[in-house]
Amino acid sequence: MSDSQDTLFSKIIRREIPADIVYEDELALAFRDINPQAPVHILVIPKQPIPKLADAVPDDHRILGHLLMTVKRVADQEGLANGYRVVINTGEDGGQTVYHLHLHLLGGRPLAWPPG
Ligand code: 5GP
Repeated sequence: MSDSQDTLFSKIIRREIPADIVYEDELALAFRDINPQAPVHILVIPKQPIPKLADAVPDDHRILGHLLMTVKRVADQEGLANGYRVVINTGEDGGQTVYHLHLHLLGGRPLAWPPG
């Protein structure tokens, strides 16, 4: 892994900084966002970093599918039977701040549309 891919999320994967981890398997990790925007706000990340969705290549299709299925699994685990939102901020205009691909799972209240 190159240094440029070693964000704070890689440090969370390696347990070098603490996080409230709610799910883990061999490919993915899910933990609560430090600055939650909804009663449930969880980040789902691949253990093998991809900086942003725009950098994904066709060979990434399995991990991308796995991440979505992990969001569904965690949403079920969190009891979000009334619905939820999944967000991927990508690049500068997308508002991305951490360059390790992550899916935001937001739920626990009605969410407005469109987003800002
Ligand atoms: P982005 O803006 O890149 O889509 O989302 C990055 C998210 O990471 C933000 O929602 C932010 O609150 C969250 N975040 C940033 N630093 C930390 C941290 O150290 N721990 C946790 N759990 N979340 C973080």
